[in-house]
Amino acid sequence: MSICAYCEVHACLTEDEKVTPPRGCPMHKENWQEKARAAYEDHTNRKMAQLAAHVEKTGYREWTRLEEIARFCRRAAYRRVGLAFCSGLRREARIVARFLEKWDLDVFTVMCKAGSVDKRCVDIGAEDRMRPDEFEPMCNSIGQAELLNEEETELNILLGLCVGHDSLFLKHCEAPCTILAAKDRRLGHNPLAAVYLSESYYRPLHEGPDSDDS
Ligand code: SF4
Repeated sequence: MSICAYCEVHACLTEDEKVTPPRGCPMHKENWQEKARAAYEDHTNRKMAQLAAHVEKTGYREWTRLEEIARFCRRAAYRRVGLAFCSGLRREARIVARFLEKWDLDVFTVMCKAGSVDKRCVDIGAEDRMRPDEFEPMCNSIGQAELLNEEETELNILLGLCVGHDSLFLKHCEAPCTILAAKDRRLGHNPLAAVYLSESYYRPLHEGPDSDDS
């Protein structure tokens, strides 16, 4: 088990050998660092790490994430960009697509309901359907990924995909992905609001699940 989230030492932030990594620090483990370093020898991985550093340094505290994505694409000389979005954010998707097109990107947009696949096709029971007695399209995130794979996009942007649907999308995408927004229906797609308020208005965050939560 790695203890990074509970660490007070942060030896990884310095090259000072007098700062000893704490017990449970992953830096005491073997193999994983060698594997990671070997992966950075790959030209594409190395280039992406360099681009990420460039964007971080150049626009630090100035650029919004949306601007960072556009500038990342420009710096990488990407042309074909996928935008996989949730039907609940289709207005936002249109604005984002227009913005990206202004940066001379070819934007391939695909909404989660594309394909119009009934939830019953994957054995989603009535108890888990919003409209149990009628057709209800599922979020077809594997379909979104496959469509963008066919378009040979160079980077895919996730906009508000649901928990789990985003996992399936990421699992099936061939191109690298970045997340513009994570869906949070309750908090206006700002999931960290729950964390920021956890010492004041949202103390339930510190409690575990209810006993009847399965
Ligand atoms: S890598 Fe080690 S030193 Fe760095 S935060 Fe994790 S436990 Fe702490």
